Amino acid sequence: MINKLSTEFTGISTQLVHSGANPLEFFGFVNPPVVRASTVLFPDADIMKKGAQPYTYGIHGTPTTKALTDCLSQLEGATKTFLVPSGLAAITVALLGALKTGDHLLVVDSVYGPTRRFVNNVLRKFGIEVEFYNPLSGVADLLKPNTKAIYTESPGSNTFEIQDIDAIVEAAHATNAVVLLDNTWATPIFFKPLEHGVDISINAATKYQAGHSDILMGYISTNEATTTRIEQTYTDLGMSVSGDDAYLVLRSMRSMNLRLTHQQDSALFIAKWLEDQPEILAVLHPALEAHPHHALWKQNYKGSSGLFSFVLKSGDEREAHAFLDALELFGLGYSWGSFESLAVHVNLEDRLFNKDQFQTPVIRLQIGLEERDDLIKDLRNGLDAIKNL
Ligand SMILES: *Cc1c(COP(=O)(O)O)cnc(C)c1O
Repeated sequence: MINKLSTEFTGISTQLVHSGANPLEFFGFVNPPVVRASTVLFPDADIMKKGAQPYTYGIHGTPTTKALTDCLSQLEGATKTFLVPSGLAAITVALLGALKTGDHLLVVDSVYGPTRRFVNNVLRKFGIEVEFYNPLSGVADLLKPNTKAIYTESPGSNTFEIQDIDAIVEAAHATNAVVLLDNTWATPIFFKPLEHGVDISINAATKYQAGHSDILMGYISTNEATTTRIEQTYTDLGMSVSGDDAYLVLRSMRSMNLRLTHQQDSALFIAKWLEDQPEILAVLHPALEAHPHHALWKQNYKGSSGLFSFVLKSGDEREAHAFLDALELFGLGYSWGSFESLAVHVNLEDRLFNKDQFQTPVIRLQIGLEERDDLIKDLRNGLDAIKNL
């Protein structure tokens, strides 16, 4: 048994099972200990003064958080990974680390709602120029001398537009801007942002990494060029996560590839079924051939996850609510990536572009680990409830 996996073993599940653990460092126990810590003691004053030992204070990491960040950094191909208390915190810390007063920030309009709230409420207040761009157009024409960051998300939240990340990276790096990508949907299993030149990869580990609806966590994985900046801001802002949460996320990551690929297969199966239902106008899922960015998705992504939306052919909130209220297996709730299926009526009021495409209700589904035939029965009952209104 060796401590570090040799590089010839590149299978995702192999990596997920073996990375981030050094059993021989912990008497051979397979899992790392859960270290709950604030104070760490030093053997003498000189070592204390120099901080010359692996751990110095709870906020700066423990063997438990290190096991998780080692696993995540390997999966992301990152220089370093920083754990934060939520996916939203990963977004806010990364943006605060990347920008300063006077900078111009481009943000994709199909961004996660709370990200829009943060850039509008907080970044603008500190004199950062925020501009939203249409996910259906490129960013090249929008770059200015003071554009310092492009913030993107692919596919877009709720509406699933695929971004051309390679083109965004090329445009950004030509003007020394950094690219931040919220990669929560694809996860590094299906798309590795840093391999595509993205500088800062952002994930809500609350979703597939934690995978069980019981933990909030986010992480930021950086390349070499951005590590120092993000580390400084991360430390300045006093971010950390608990040993218990870090332990549980690592525990879930051992099975993440299995859960994700199963959820992918069920979601695609259900998406195709929905395409054939008479009540449906469109299914917004990039792995479907009818999706407008299917070719771009296929070129860059190794898979699709368990989250997609569909658009009803007609109706309004009344129809959307009738559908949702008739569901038994799909819970009505936020978040996703866990074992149970969820449905939500999507609100696109804050969008600036392409709103006319969504005049009828958009419903987002998170496909869990239930049997797909049962989920289809549940969805059919929901659609029947609209018919029976
Ligand atoms: C859920 C989500 C987040 C935020 O994660 P939390 O842990 O709930 O704060 C960020 N980005 C996307 C795309 C999400 O869906």
